[in-house]
Amino acid sequence: MPGTIDIEALCQAKGLRITEQRRVIARVLSEARDHPDVEELHRRAAAVDKGISIATVYRTVRLFEEAGILERHDFRDGRSRYEPTPDEHHDHLINIETGDVIEFHDEAIEKLQAEIAERLGFRLVDHRMELYGVPLKGGKDRG
Ligand SMILES: [Zn+2]
Repeated sequence: MPGTIDIEALCQAKGLRITEQRRVIARVLSEARDHPDVEELHRRAAAVDKGISIATVYRTVRLFEEAGILERHDFRDGRSRYEPTPDEHHDHLINIETGDVIEFHDEAIEKLQAEIAERLGFRLVDHRMELYGVPLKGGKDRG
Protein backbone atom coordinates (compact mmCIF):
# COMPACT_ATOMS: atom_id res chain seq x y z
CA MET A 1 0.00 0.00 0.00
CA PRO A 2 1.17 3.55 -0.55
CA GLY A 3 1.86 5.68 2.43
CA THR A 4 4.44 3.52 4.13
CA ILE A 5 7.29 4.67 1.90
CA ASP A 6 9.58 7.46 3.08
CA ILE A 7 10.05 9.57 -0.08
CA GLU A 8 12.44 11.94 1.65
CA ALA A 9 14.78 9.09 2.62
CA LEU A 10 14.64 7.77 -0.96
CA CYS A 11 15.61 11.21 -2.28
CA GLN A 12 18.58 11.27 0.03
CA ALA A 13 19.57 7.77 -1.06
CA LYS A 14 19.41 8.87 -4.72
CA GLY A 15 21.41 12.02 -4.05
CA LEU A 16 18.57 14.42 -4.91
CA ARG A 17 18.88 17.87 -3.45
CA ILE A 18 16.09 18.39 -0.94
CA THR A 19 14.73 21.91 -0.67
CA GLU A 20 12.18 22.87 1.95
CA GLN A 21 9.38 22.84 -0.66
CA ARG A 22 10.44 19.46 -2.03
CA ARG A 23 10.46 18.16 1.53
CA VAL A 24 6.82 19.23 1.97
CA ILE A 25 5.81 17.63 -1.35
CA ALA A 26 7.73 14.45 -0.43
CA ARG A 27 5.90 14.30 2.89
CA VAL A 28 2.50 14.78 1.22
CA LEU A 29 3.33 11.96 -1.18
CA SER A 30 4.51 9.69 1.65
CA GLU A 31 1.28 10.26 3.55
CA ALA A 32 -1.07 9.78 0.56
CA ARG A 33 -3.22 6.68 0.84
CA ASP A 34 -4.78 7.28 -2.58
CA HIS A 35 -3.33 8.01 -6.01
CA PRO A 36 -3.48 11.82 -6.15
CA ASP A 37 -3.02 13.92 -9.27
CA VAL A 38 -0.87 17.07 -9.40
CA GLU A 39 -3.76 19.38 -8.54
CA GLU A 40 -4.63 17.38 -5.46
CA LEU A 41 -0.96 17.18 -4.44
CA HIS A 42 -0.72 20.92 -4.85
CA ARG A 43 -3.81 21.44 -2.66
CA ARG A 44 -2.28 19.32 0.11
CA ALA A 45 1.21 20.83 -0.18
CA ALA A 46 -0.12 24.40 -0.27
CA ALA A 47 -2.06 23.69 2.93
CA VAL A 48 1.33 23.20 4.60
CA ASP A 49 3.24 25.94 2.74
CA LYS A 50 1.12 28.29 0.65
CA GLY A 51 4.24 29.47 -1.18
CA ILE A 52 4.36 26.19 -3.11
CA SER A 53 3.16 26.72 -6.70
CA ILE A 54 1.57 24.11 -8.91
CA ALA A 55 4.58 24.50 -11.27
CA THR A 56 6.86 23.44 -8.42
CA VAL A 57 4.68 20.39 -7.76
CA TYR A 58 4.82 19.48 -11.48
CA ARG A 59 8.60 19.80 -11.56
CA THR A 60 9.03 17.88 -8.34
CA VAL A 61 6.85 14.90 -9.27
CA ARG A 62 8.62 14.70 -12.66
CA LEU A 63 11.98 14.73 -10.90
CA PHE A 64 10.85 12.02 -8.46
CA GLU A 65 9.40 9.97 -11.30
CA GLU A 66 12.64 10.19 -13.30
CA ALA A 67 14.52 9.04 -10.21
CA GLY A 68 12.25 5.99 -9.96
CA ILE A 69 10.80 7.15 -6.64
CA LEU A 70 7.29 7.71 -8.00
CA GLU A 71 5.10 5.79 -10.39
CA ARG A 72 2.78 7.64 -12.73
CA HIS A 73 -0.57 6.14 -13.66
CA ASP A 74 -3.17 7.02 -16.24
CA PHE A 75 -6.55 5.75 -15.12
CA ARG A 76 -8.32 7.08 -18.23
CA ASP A 77 -9.72 10.26 -16.70
CA GLY A 78 -7.15 12.45 -18.42
CA ARG A 79 -5.08 13.03 -15.28
CA SER A 80 -1.71 11.64 -14.33
CA ARG A 81 -1.80 10.11 -10.86
CA TYR A 82 1.13 9.37 -8.64
CA GLU A 83 2.09 6.91 -5.95
CA PRO A 84 5.39 6.04 -4.33
CA THR A 85 6.99 3.15 -6.24
CA PRO A 86 5.77 0.21 -4.17
CA ASP A 87 8.13 -2.30 -2.57
CA GLU A 88 5.78 -5.05 -3.64
CA HIS A 89 3.92 -5.14 -6.93
CA HIS A 90 0.19 -4.54 -7.02
CA ASP A 91 -2.45 -3.95 -9.68
CA HIS A 92 -5.39 -1.57 -9.71
CA LEU A 93 -9.16 -1.79 -9.96
CA ILE A 94 -10.81 1.52 -10.79
CA ASN A 95 -14.40 2.21 -9.76
CA ILE A 96 -15.60 4.18 -12.78
CA GLU A 97 -18.56 5.60 -10.86
CA THR A 98 -16.51 7.19 -8.10
CA GLY A 99 -12.95 7.16 -9.45
CA ASP A 100 -11.84 5.22 -6.37
CA VAL A 101 -8.76 3.08 -6.93
CA ILE A 102 -8.52 -0.30 -5.22
CA GLU A 103 -5.19 -2.09 -5.04
CA PHE A 104 -4.90 -5.84 -5.29
CA HIS A 105 -2.36 -8.59 -5.80
CA ASP A 106 -3.30 -11.99 -7.14
CA GLU A 107 -0.70 -14.76 -7.42
CA ALA A 108 -2.73 -16.72 -10.00
CA ILE A 109 -2.83 -13.69 -12.33
CA GLU A 110 0.86 -12.94 -11.80
CA LYS A 111 1.73 -16.55 -12.68
CA LEU A 112 -0.59 -16.62 -15.69
CA GLN A 113 0.94 -13.45 -17.15
CA ALA A 114 4.45 -14.89 -16.83
CA GLU A 115 3.26 -18.09 -18.52
CA ILE A 116 1.68 -16.17 -21.41
CA ALA A 117 4.87 -14.17 -21.96
CA GLU A 118 6.91 -17.39 -21.89
CA ARG A 119 4.56 -19.05 -24.36
CA LEU A 120 5.18 -16.09 -26.67
CA GLY A 121 8.93 -16.45 -26.23
CA PHE A 122 9.54 -13.80 -23.58
CA ARG A 123 10.69 -13.53 -20.00
CA LEU A 124 8.32 -11.13 -18.29
CA VAL A 125 10.10 -8.19 -16.63
CA ASP A 126 7.17 -5.90 -15.91
CA HIS A 127 3.48 -5.45 -16.46
CA ARG A 128 0.61 -3.18 -15.63
CA MET A 129 -2.97 -4.22 -15.27
CA GLU A 130 -5.94 -1.97 -14.71
CA LEU A 131 -9.45 -3.27 -14.20
CA TYR A 132 -12.36 -0.87 -14.69
CA GLY A 133 -15.65 -1.68 -13.03
CA VAL A 134 -18.89 -0.57 -11.43
CA PRO A 135 -19.91 -1.82 -7.98
CA LEU A 136 -22.22 -4.85 -7.95
CA LYS A 137 -25.67 -3.80 -6.80
CA GLY A 138 -26.48 -5.37 -3.48
CA GLY A 139 -22.94 -6.76 -3.49
CA LYS A 140 -20.75 -7.03 -0.47
CA ASP A 141 -19.57 -3.81 1.01
CA ARG A 142 -15.79 -3.75 0.88
CA GLY A 143 -15.50 -0.33 2.43
ZN1 LIG B 1 -1.33 1.68 -6.38
